[in-house]
Amino acid sequence: MGGPGRTARGRRAGRGAGGAAPGGAGAPRAAAFPDVVPAPGLRLVALDLDGVVWRGGDVLPGVAEALDQVLRRGLDIRYVSNNSTAHRETVSERLERAGLPAGVDRVLTSGFVTARWLRERLPEGAPVMVIGEEGLLRELREAGLAAYHAGRVDRAPRQSGAATPSGARGAGGQNGVATPSGVAAPAGTPVPAASPATPPGVPPDTPSPGTPPGVPPATARVMLPALVPAAVIVGMDRSFSYQTLAAAQAAIMSGALFVATNCDATFPTPTGLLPGAGSIVAAVATAAGSEPVLMGKPGPALAEVLAAVTGIPAGQTLFVGDRLSTDIAMGRAAGMITALVLTGVTGEEDLRAAERAAAAAAAAAERAAAERAVAEEATAAGTGGAAAAGPVAAGPALPDHVLADLRGLAALVDELRRP
Ligand SMILES: [Mg+2]
Repeated sequence: MGGPGRTARGRRAGRGAGGAAPGGAGAPRAAAFPDVVPAPGLRLVALDLDGVVWRGGDVLPGVAEALDQVLRRGLDIRYVSNNSTAHRETVSERLERAGLPAGVDRVLTSGFVTARWLRERLPEGAPVMVIGEEGLLRELREAGLAAYHAGRVDRAPRQSGAATPSGARGAGGQNGVATPSGVAAPAGTPVPAASPATPPGVPPDTPSPGTPPGVPPATARVMLPALVPAAVIVGMDRSFSYQTLAAAQAAIMSGALFVATNCDATFPTPTGLLPGAGSIVAAVATAAGSEPVLMGKPGPALAEVLAAVTGIPAGQTLFVGDRLSTDIAMGRAAGMITALVLTGVTGEEDLRAAERAAAAAAAAAERAAAERAVAEEATAAGTGGAAAAGPVAAGPALPDHVLADLRGLAALVDELRRP
């Protein structure tokens, strides 16, 4: 882990010396350093947060010095996180307390991007149900949506101003959850799950003979909103429960658009991995029999918003992340230069396995291409026979560079700036 940086795809990258830059942490932006020559190609360093900048509550070693050196080289810094639990302002305050380059405009989260995406498709005041935490609710409300938590349907709006999102499934031609009489129930009406108003999939309000002692039976009443929300947004939620799962299921099965802030199965903490938003999204998807629209990495939305808000094209952006399947996959797909740090989810062994899988996929693709050429030749010669190979699955995304930790960042930036 402490060895020199290396490349995963051929480019050489040195490990940063990690030495303190003159001026110390919190020094002004690069413009204050006339000796700094702006990078001709590279202009922006975008970093994931969890597992890259910090892990759990702890800032990782050498991060403040590394980011200070990036600024001194005339490059800009942005943080791009799949974590939707905190509002950007909260993240910025945390960065500031840690002595790192901060500012709301420096922070992009999956919650922010989700709110932005939804607001482009829904009218102001559209009701949206949330399985998520306060930061996500705040992002959605600031974007003009009437966001309420799935556990607090009593706070759902009484009037629907929602239109069906463009490109989304229809809301079944109704805005109210169907009641036996076909009349929408008043907001927050507790609906006994066994009543005829039980939405599809809500368990009956009868004690289960198999309920273990001390566990509330699946009897508890499921609160249904008076109106089907325009969308159900699912992210990381440490209050996630059977009841919120049932509420989300009912809304999605009634026609609400299903949106996931991210699908990270786990997230790293100093004591190991904990379940991430992806674990909750999978539960909702299973219950509702529906797949979500994905907003976070590896989807393209965060990369697109990053380019839009900075005006810096992907090709002049170095993306630093700790997870191959999200950070590196998004960065590669967007055309960024990518670097994997081994301080988070993806470890050395995972990287080796991914390299072997990528090599196997490349070999399979080569074989398939050769078989296709033979088949085409045979067809042209009229001899028939050979069958063309079918499609070959792509291998995992590999990073352009690998760093043991962020102490190697400045040396990598210098390497990339060399003509
Ligand atoms: Mg991460």
